[in-house]
Amino acid sequence: MNFEIFLERAKNCPKQRLAVASPEDESVLDAVLAAEREGLIEAILIGNEEIIRKMTHSEKIVNAQSTEEAAALAVGMIRAGEADILMKGLLDTRTLLRAVVNSETGIREQKLLSHITLFSLPDFPRLLAASDCAMVISPGIEEKRSIIENAALFMRRIGVRNPKIALISATEKTNPKLPSSVEASELTDHFRNEKDFMVALRDLTELNLKALDVVRSIIVRNVEKGLLPNYAKGLIDIKTQYNTIGVIGIYEAIKTFGYVKEDEFGNTFYTDEAFAFAKKLFSVIHTTKDHFALDKDYMINVEAIPGESAAAKMQAADEILYPETVVKDLPLYGNQFIPLGIKTTLHERIRIASAFDEYCNGGSILHVNIEAPFQNKEQAWNMLDYITDQGVTYFAFNTKIQACEYNHAFFGKKCPECGGPVATEYTRIVGFYTPIKTWSKKRKEEYELREWEDFSNEQEVRVG
Ligand SMILES: [Zn+2]
Repeated sequence: MNFEIFLERAKNCPKQRLAVASPEDESVLDAVLAAEREGLIEAILIGNEEIIRKMTHSEKIVNAQSTEEAAALAVGMIRAGEADILMKGLLDTRTLLRAVVNSETGIREQKLLSHITLFSLPDFPRLLAASDCAMVISPGIEEKRSIIENAALFMRRIGVRNPKIALISATEKTNPKLPSSVEASELTDHFRNEKDFMVALRDLTELNLKALDVVRSIIVRNVEKGLLPNYAKGLIDIKTQYNTIGVIGIYEAIKTFGYVKEDEFGNTFYTDEAFAFAKKLFSVIHTTKDHFALDKDYMINVEAIPGESAAAKMQAADEILYPETVVKDLPLYGNQFIPLGIKTTLHERIRIASAFDEYCNGGSILHVNIEAPFQNKEQAWNMLDYITDQGVTYFAFNTKIQACEYNHAFFGKKCPECGGPVATEYTRIVGFYTPIKTWSKKRKEEYELREWEDFSNEQEVRVG
């Protein structure tokens, strides 16, 4: 495999807009114009207009007074979606990178930026990539993990579906005197475990899809036999109904890999690795279902479900099957990205929900637990505006409702209607409020651990 293959593949891609920062250089322009002649790109040249005009007849030129400005303009175009690819011309790497990593105007997505060199060797059948050869000077194990993640993502994006990764150290065997060999061995275990997990997830998703398919064909047959009056009378149409993959225990899965951490106040948060892992996890589920759906005449979606009974049973099963690694922070597996019984901030719940709502196209719900009712409408609207502004699609304010023995609903310790004490409390686990006394034993235990936000003493709602 050599670089020619990129040329072939690029010809099948839509034409890309290339933003070149400081192209006032013969070899840079030669490359850009060659790609343009091949019809692969549309170049936007950003730099000293006067000089560029003398060198080329290119039409799209954006004037910049300095290399700093050229870098900022080029990065700005990528950020604004006006260009697709950023190219470095005749300017310092440092200047370009400063624009890339700018926290206000830059385009950095990952925590760590790393460098990749691609090799095509005449007598070797595959492409070789080496990383990191230029940016991360003395990486620790965390940085090495990020470098590998970045490199694997890059290779997948250029069409290598299963990149093989080798860690290079001075010896092939682990030697405690050579830290890089020890880290290489740890990293190998880590990625092997993660890969095994994703493969198992794919297989189980497939099994799930097959089981759902069977259930669906039974329903379809019963509809045809006229056994289901709602369908027979036209109240429900099976064609509009999804098969749904339910998801629970995301938090526990991520925690197994050590990506969930606690801050100095004991608040749980997702690390960057947690976000990357969860995205990978959802993408495995989605890719599997999309593939499965290809020859089906119905749609499949993914939903974060409460799985009331499954959540407890699965945890009990994992305790028997995987006693060493089971995460048992709560009496049953959670359906929230950080379960309600785990101490965290509302801000963190919102941050996570906004990142993952889109993967749950069948729905998910961020529960915002509120101890006392809102003081007034304005307070509630402020809160609602804040959460939607963060990009959360599905959420619910869960207040507690107390009830006396006659089922008068109120908030407080004494019924304002009959003066009786609190007999039960209502809140929601699913789409509606139910009395806690009717909940399962495990769910009741979990309920006791929940944290509740209290806005009753605040003038306005402030979060984050
Ligand atoms: Zn009452």
